[in-house]
Amino acid sequence: MQKLTSESHIFSFSRDEPPALRVKSGETVQIETMDCFSNQIVTESDKLDRIDWDHVNPATGPVFVEGAEPGDTLKVDIETIELAGQGVMATGKGFGVLGHKMEGLYEKIVPITGDEAVFSEKIRIPLNKMIGVIGVAPSGEPVPCGTPGSHGGNMDNKRIAEKTSVYLPVAAEGALFSLGDVHAVMGDGEIGVTGVEAPALVTVKFEVLKDMGIKNPFIETDDIVATIASHEEISKAITTAVEDMERLLTEGAPMETHEMAMLLSAVGNVEVCQVVDPLNTVRFSVPLWIYYIFFNH
Ligand code: CA
Ligand code: ZN
Repeated sequence: MQKLTSESHIFSFSRDEPPALRVKSGETVQIETMDCFSNQIVTESDKLDRIDWDHVNPATGPVFVEGAEPGDTLKVDIETIELAGQGVMATGKGFGVLGHKMEGLYEKIVPITGDEAVFSEKIRIPLNKMIGVIGVAPSGEPVPCGTPGSHGGNMDNKRIAEKTSVYLPVAAEGALFSLGDVHAVMGDGEIGVTGVEAPALVTVKFEVLKDMGIKNPFIETDDIVATIASHEEISKAITTAVEDMERLLTEGAPMETHEMAMLLSAVGNVEVCQVVDPLNTVRFSVPLWIYYIFFNH
């Protein structure tokens, strides 16, 4: 199995970024990731206001997937996420939903023991290992790794976890895939501006889908299919995600909009991924069994 170390990393998704690794469709690869602070906060004396802010949100890559061309879809199966160190969290004045109530900047080392994140002596949080930043080169201008979009990027979607397949719209030759920003656990919204950030080793399998064209990312897990959309205004992100779900399902089997609106009203869930990045991200999920009905599984 090929392995890409975190030495090869980007701070923007860009079609001009030279590939760090070439893989074939169907190939499985190990990708090492740094945490969102490029592993600059290792002890609580590593202060947030003294780290190099030009080097945050690294994503390891780009991976050139042979055969991927603009208009194709890149399917990425997240096989395993192995944490490779302790967790770190940060928040403070101006950061996140409670940023107006704080004066200083705060960082916290969160040890990981077994399948728990040790938030404090009393509070041990079950892990939900997930990938914050995952995407491909966008069609237009480079997009910083801290920003989500149609190319993927910093979606901070807690359902992008082990056993999830992520579908990304290819906009550049070879797709130029990168990932980073693994969280040991994170709640929907990521309201304080970080999850429990940790370096990791992620194993993914790539597949180029020639007969599927999508505009925005979507995911398939063991229980849901969810479209993902990002926008400054969360209501606009919701509209895009719901429209994308309608489009996705009707590619399997046609259904008139009024019928679809009723069905999605009955079984679809608008869920928040994050509300703290430059754009807000939502997902719109339907149960996997509904998706299978449209695609005759
Ligand atoms: Ca993130
Ligand atoms: Zn993060």
